Amino acid sequence: MSYQPSDDRYENVSWRRAGTTGLTLPEFAFGLWQKFGDRSPFETQREIVLAAFDAGIVHFDNANRYGPPHRAAEKNFGRILRDDLGAWREELILTTKAGNPIGPSPYHRGGSRKNLLQSLDHSLRDLGTDYVDVFYFHHPDPAVPLEETVGALATAVQSGKALYAGVSNFYDRDEAHRAAALLKDAGVPLALHQSRYSIFDRRLELQDVLGQSEQDGVGLVTYSPLAQGLLTDKYLDGVPAGARAVDSDFLSTADITEQYRRRARALNELAGLRGQSLAQLALQWVLRRPEVTSALIGASSVEQLHHNLKAPAFAPLTEEELAVIDTHGVH
Ligand code: NDP
Repeated sequence: MSYQPSDDRYENVSWRRAGTTGLTLPEFAFGLWQKFGDRSPFETQREIVLAAFDAGIVHFDNANRYGPPHRAAEKNFGRILRDDLGAWREELILTTKAGNPIGPSPYHRGGSRKNLLQSLDHSLRDLGTDYVDVFYFHHPDPAVPLEETVGALATAVQSGKALYAGVSNFYDRDEAHRAAALLKDAGVPLALHQSRYSIFDRRLELQDVLGQSEQDGVGLVTYSPLAQGLLTDKYLDGVPAGARAVDSDFLSTADITEQYRRRARALNELAGLRGQSLAQLALQWVLRRPEVTSALIGASSVEQLHHNLKAPAFAPLTEEELAVIDTHGVH
């Protein structure tokens, strides 16, 4: 049967503005980094993506690199767009990124104009759409002048192939500001900065990228708010089969140390006192900052997704609770 989205999908969505742009986004975005390639069942991927849309998540984050293999996640999402979500394209925020390596060629990596613009064309073909809503430069590349990279982002927007420009993983406050200033000079505002932020990774706070983004009018999309699953209760007493620490190139059982477990157990206890799960506590923690436009989450099942989306329903974190979290988070 053909897909029909839920009629009340926007009822419980909280929207936040991306910096000083006109773009509003739901407080949760969904990413297809892992388990959306060719090693995971397509039907599960489809169920999760459609459940997200039914829950009011309209913002789907992709990159040329996501799979495995590289490009597979965009092809798989393109299939869902073609078969299920195409009629709702105007309600979707689709993003892609280029810059991280996807092959041995120098034209498949880095911040050159050649890599960025040809990768964007390739992603549009794989996704089966004429434009993405946001085109990100994936990671700073010291070998290429930022002016060239920013020029390519501006061209992407001016050509209509992207509606907004973004950068990702700019943890140096001055570099983040420079990217915003150069884009402004090129007549294209920097709409979004996407970087990692969680109880276990506070670089955006410590280096005040949060404050700089606000000053520059740039929205922040913060990824891996659950530290890839470490900020859930799944690894407290073992390592479940099929979990990311078992089958991913980016998290391993070596990350499940006793020190980690001590911290996670203490945080889990606090969550329990608040009547919520550790995952829900960790998401609330990220969303407590007004500079954050969206928490960019992943999930390997519809159950995880539904569970996580309940996070904002709990009482706001108090100063005392935030202090307890500071004691157990990694600085
Ligand atoms: P999260 O920190 O939200 O981790 C998601 C993973 O945690 C799930 O896939 C699942 O893993 C586990 N999980 C989620 N909810 C629960 C739960 N309730 N109980 C137990 N386990 C749970 O985010 P990701 O690391 O997936 O990153 C999200 C997105 O951010 C990516 O898809 C990508 O779009 C973006 N990103 C961007 C980067 C960049 O450089 N710009 C880099 C990395 C990510 P499992 O069940 O498989 O163990």
